[in-house]
Amino acid sequence: MRIMACVAMLLCGVAFGQQQSPGQQQSPLIAVKTGRLLDPVAQKVRERAVVIIQDGRIKSVGDAVPAGAQVVDASGLTVSPGFIDCHTHVLLQGDPTDVEYDEQILKESLPYRALRATRAMRIALEHGFTTLRDIGNEGAGFADVDLKKAVAAGVIVGPRLFVATKALAPTGAYGLGGTTYNWQLEMPKGVQLCDGADGCRKAVRDQISHGADWIKVYADRGYFKRPDGQIRSLPNFTQEELNAIVDQAHRTNRKVAAHSITPTGHAIALAAGVDSIEHGQVLDDATVKQMAQKKVFLSPTMLVMGYVDAPRSKTNPIWAAIAKSADESFKRALAAGVSIALGTDAGGFPWDQINEAKEFKLYVDRGMSTWQALRSGTVVAASLLGKESELGTVAPGAHADLVGMKDDPLKDITATERVSFVMKEGVVIVPPAH
Ligand SMILES: [Zn+2]
Repeated sequence: MRIMACVAMLLCGVAFGQQQSPGQQQSPLIAVKTGRLLDPVAQKVRERAVVIIQDGRIKSVGDAVPAGAQVVDASGLTVSPGFIDCHTHVLLQGDPTDVEYDEQILKESLPYRALRATRAMRIALEHGFTTLRDIGNEGAGFADVDLKKAVAAGVIVGPRLFVATKALAPTGAYGLGGTTYNWQLEMPKGVQLCDGADGCRKAVRDQISHGADWIKVYADRGYFKRPDGQIRSLPNFTQEELNAIVDQAHRTNRKVAAHSITPTGHAIALAAGVDSIEHGQVLDDATVKQMAQKKVFLSPTMLVMGYVDAPRSKTNPIWAAIAKSADESFKRALAAGVSIALGTDAGGFPWDQINEAKEFKLYVDRGMSTWQALRSGTVVAASLLGKESELGTVAPGAHADLVGMKDDPLKDITATERVSFVMKEGVVIVPPAH
């Protein structure tokens, strides 16, 4: 099976070389020959660079192959650091409406959902996404912690995960349940419910003790148009509750990502001190100014909006209005200097039907330069994760995560949707095609 899976013998050698040397002092050098190497940190291109790798990390970047090094020939490709998606749900496989969501939560066992997640992760990795911030597992206990562990231990092949486990919302603010179901039944929940400052603080402690890297909160819901035409929402938490969540997370060196669509949610989320706003389809001037000042990241998830907009609008026209507002909001955030970290909400759309790299083009369509878009999915995303020296860069000490493209994404950003080479931690996942 192993031989069948490895088509290119040289590349198998590289991969096995990594696996066969745990007892040795040093694993062999790997030299990746590139046609052009993109450095999104300095926004510079280096022609015919050779990336030298050892033990899964980048050792140096030079012009020549060192003696004895195993060569991976990507010299026909433009090579970038591995992509990072800052907003995914690997345990979800598309939920344009409640129907698809309920189908998964009610009819799929947790083992089955985990199996589907491993496939989603493989797809993401083969699309060049070597790192995911997976924020919210939709009722899957702490299965995302296991998936992260399985990748790290080499049990499965997938992107490196930063996980948020259960996400938080107060009683009555998140499905399943409410008036749709028989009130005699206790329905499963897609989040961990918490109420009151102490209750929410305890929930944060509980999640962190079980392996949460991030805390995810749902800041708002129930979107509506005011008589003046402005889109607003219902705040989920009291300010006291949200303050307690953020304070407790920060005390334990964890960051907080807030699902927040309108200024109603943004106001309480930013006052509490969250680290990222997720979605943010309705951003006013006051919000983007505050985000830029406080260095709060935006993860725009434009791709999922295009997927859920039409089906959700059939039952609630507010979704069409939110989608329309998203374009202007993105431009407003970009103009205000908000740090925009690429996030797609993959899992909200099916992993096997839509390549999450399409998010790059949506940013360029809305005013980013191709460099800015590439930075959004590499260096800016790494900054959001607090891993600037290890991810999103091709520099000594960083993880050897590389993506190769036949076309130049600086000229045509859709090149990111057609990767021809993927390496993660020095192991070839997709062999270079010329
Ligand atoms: Zn999401």
